[in-house]
Amino acid sequence: MELRKNIKPGICAAKYCNHKVNGTRLCSTCRSKKCRENDPVKYAFTALKNNAKRRNILFTITLEQFREWCSKVIYIGHAGRASESYTIDRRHNDIGYHIDNIKVMKKGDNVKKYFYYDYRTKLTAYSTIQPEQAQQVENYF
Ligand SMILES: [Zn+2]
Repeated sequence: MELRKNIKPGICAAKYCNHKVNGTRLCSTCRSKKCRENDPVKYAFTALKNNAKRRNILFTITLEQFREWCSKVIYIGHAGRASESYTIDRRHNDIGYHIDNIKVMKKGDNVKKYFYYDYRTKLTAYSTIQPEQAQQVENYF
């Protein structure tokens, strides 16, 4: 994130942002954006956790588990932008967010692809059909 050269009091320090601030350097939008740039995995984790909490869904995943999972399941792609084009969902909707019950779904595809990482077999796979009917079509490891 670029900061403006001449920081004005009361105005967000981010270049091209004119939001008002009250005692902070960056407005809340830019703070969140900066956080996302610094650590996209943590940002995605927090968003997922807050979302689960809001929807009253059990969430047992730790940040460490999530980091490992992301590195295997390509959730966080180039430049940390993947959270715009990928979404994390549960494989089985009747149970909560556990590390072995999450999948990545690419948004906006005509054919939806579901990505899996199976902790038991240590394999990643994707399918183009519903997870319940999934067949392992490709292994990355
Ligand atoms: Zn700002």
